Amino acid sequence: MDFDVILIGAGPGGIYCAYELSRLAPQLRVAVFEAGHPLARRRCPIDGVRVKSCVGCPSCSIMSGFGGAGAFSDGKYNITNDFGGTLYEHLGRQQALDLMRYVDEINLNHGGAGTRLYSTAGTRFKKLCMQNDLRLLDASVRHLGTDINYIVLENLYAELKEKVTFFFDSPINEIKRTGEGYTVISGTQRFSCRFCVVSVGRSGSHWMEEVCRQLEIPTHSNRVDLGVRVELPAEVFSHLTDELYESKIVYRTSKYEDLVRTFCMNPRGAVVNENTNGIITVNGHSYEDPAKQTDNTNFALLVSKRFSEPFKDSNGYGESIARLSNMLGGGVLLQRFGDLIRGQRSTQKRIEESFVTPTLNATPGDLSLVLPKRILDGIIEMIYALDKIAPGTANEDTLLYGVEVKFYNMEVEVNENLETRYDGLYIIGDGSGITHSLSHASASGVHVARTIAAC
Ligand SMILES: Cc1cc2nc3c(=O)[nH]c(=O)nc-3n(C[C@H](O)[C@H](O)[C@H](O)COP(=O)(O)OP(=O)(O)OC[C@H]3O[C@@H](n4cnc5c(N)ncnc54)[C@H](O)[C@@H]3O)c2cc1C
Repeated sequence: MDFDVILIGAGPGGIYCAYELSRLAPQLRVAVFEAGHPLARRRCPIDGVRVKSCVGCPSCSIMSGFGGAGAFSDGKYNITNDFGGTLYEHLGRQQALDLMRYVDEINLNHGGAGTRLYSTAGTRFKKLCMQNDLRLLDASVRHLGTDINYIVLENLYAELKEKVTFFFDSPINEIKRTGEGYTVISGTQRFSCRFCVVSVGRSGSHWMEEVCRQLEIPTHSNRVDLGVRVELPAEVFSHLTDELYESKIVYRTSKYEDLVRTFCMNPRGAVVNENTNGIITVNGHSYEDPAKQTDNTNFALLVSKRFSEPFKDSNGYGESIARLSNMLGGGVLLQRFGDLIRGQRSTQKRIEESFVTPTLNATPGDLSLVLPKRILDGIIEMIYALDKIAPGTANEDTLLYGVEVKFYNMEVEVNENLETRYDGLYIIGDGSGITHSLSHASASGVHVARTIAAC
C-alpha cells in the first residue's frame, strides 16, 4: 500500500478528517489529493477593472483548492441540526452537534479566537417572526469572516503539511476496488490505500455521480433551491444582524404553500459571482475587518423545488434556469424590486439613480424573464412578509440579483459511519449530499477520521 488513507478533496470535509487522523492515529500514512491549487496560489482573476467576468479557469479558485468552496466564504459555522445538512439522520442529533462544537474548538485554536458566537437562544425575534407568519430557525453561528477564515486555513495547512502528504493540482480520475483496499488514479499515476475517503464537494458532483455509477453505489436526487440575492441598506436589517448576525427565516407562501427561506446573510457584505461547472450564479460574503465592510447587507431568498419520479435531474433544471440568466445578461442579472413589481426591466440609469449602490457589477435586466412564475411569486410574497419585521425590505430600491441556485449533490447511500456498501470507502461532506455547509462538512470529516482511527 502506498498510503493507509487517501483523502480525495481538500475542502473542509477533507481537511478536518486529515486533522483528526493526524491527531488520533499519527502512525497512519495519509495523503490528500486536491484538484485545485494550494491556498496561497488560489486567485480569482476577476478584479472588477481589467477582468470583469468569469474567464473559465481550468481550476476555479473560488470553488477548488486547499479550503475547498469555503476558502473565501464568509466563514459562518452554524452549529445546528435545523439546516446545513442532515448529518444527524446518520449520527444522531447530539453527536452531530458535539462534532460541530469540536470543529469550532479547532477553529478557535487555529486563529479564530476572539471571533463572535451568535445565538438565537432567547431572542425576542422568534416571537416577532411568529406574529408575522415567519419562522426563525434555531442556531448558534460562529462568524469567522472571510479574513479570519483564511487565517484559520493557513494555520491548519502549516500544521498538516508536516504530517500529511498533499498532492495539489491532482484531480482523481478514477477509484478502483482492489483485494485489500482501493487504487486511485490521477492522470498517469496510481496510488493504493486501505481506506479511501471521498470529499469532493459541489465542484466534484458530476465526477461523484460517475464514481457511484461505476461502483454501483445507490444514490437519490430530487432537490434544487432557486431564487435571488437581495441587497439593501445595512440599517434595514441591523436590528436582526447585530443580535443574531445571520437569521435563517422560513416563510410558507399563501399561494402555493411553497417554503421560501433566507440563506447566507452577509451584514455589511458584498455580492459576488459564483462559477459552478461554467455557469455564473450569485453568492455573497462579508468581512470581519470593519475596513472591508460595505454599507449594504445581502442575503439569498430561495424556494426549494423537489421533483418526483420519473424526473431525476433537479440540478439540471437549476442549471438551465441559471444558463438563461447568463444568456440574457452575460452573467448575473440585476433588478430593482420596484421595477420587478411594475413589470419593467431595470436599466443602468435606474440602477445609478437608485438609493442603494450595488456591490456587484451585474447586468440590469428583468428577472421575470428568467425565474419561473411560481418561484418569483414566492420570493415577492416573502419580501413583503420580511418587510413587516424589517421595514424597508420591500422598498423600490431593494436590489435583486439572479439567479442564486443552491445545487444539492445527489444523496449517496452510506451507513452511520458514512461508509458505502464497500468496506473502507467513505463519502463525506457536500459530495455525499448529506451536508450543505462548512460545519456539517467538517463534522463529517472528523466523524470518519475517528471511525478509521478506531479500526
Ligand atoms: C462563495 C461561497 C460562500 C459560502 N459561504 C458559506 C458559509 O458562510 N457558511 C457555510 O456553512 N457554508 C458556506 N458555503 C458552502 C461551503 O463552502 C460548503 O458547504 C463546504 O465548503 C463543503 O465542504 P466540502 O469539503 O464538502 O466540499 P468543498 O469545500 O467543495 O471541497 C471539495 C474539494 O474537492 C476538490 N475536488 C473535487 N473533485 C475532485 C477530484 N476528482 N479529485 C480531487 N479533488 C477534487 C475540489 O477542488 C474542492 O477543493 C459557501 C460556499 C461558497 C461557494
